Amino acid sequence: MAERTLRGARLGGQSFEDERGIEFAARQQVGYRCPQGHDFEITMSVEAEVPAVWECPRCGAEAESTAGIEREIKAEKPVRTHWDMLLERRSEKELEDILKERLELLRGGEIGPAHLHRATQKKRRASA
Ligand SMILES: [Zn+2]
Repeated sequence: MAERTLRGARLGGQSFEDERGIEFAARQQVGYRCPQGHDFEITMSVEAEVPAVWECPRCGAEAESTAGIEREIKAEKPVRTHWDMLLERRSEKELEDILKERLELLRGGEIGPAHLHRATQKKRRASA
């Protein structure tokens, strides 16, 4: 710990020396709060660029700075998931109907893996 502090202070240039000749980097406490409401503080050099987010030590979620440091907004396209693409083509109501229809067919042994068919094959409706 002490060794790291010394190194950091030398790298940063500005140093603070006590009467024993030990250098200390000036520090600050930076507060963070994760989405679960866990508050914690990280000790950083005053020269360090304070990150807007820090991993919560309790739950691992991304905690945001309580000092109001804003995240860098990256100019990247929002990721389109398979679900997004599906919703562009069908409404949720339509998807529900399709799901119901397919489930009925599956339960009736019309579709699905062959080993599931065998047990229900006798119940198969001739009209279907
Ligand atoms: Zn947390």
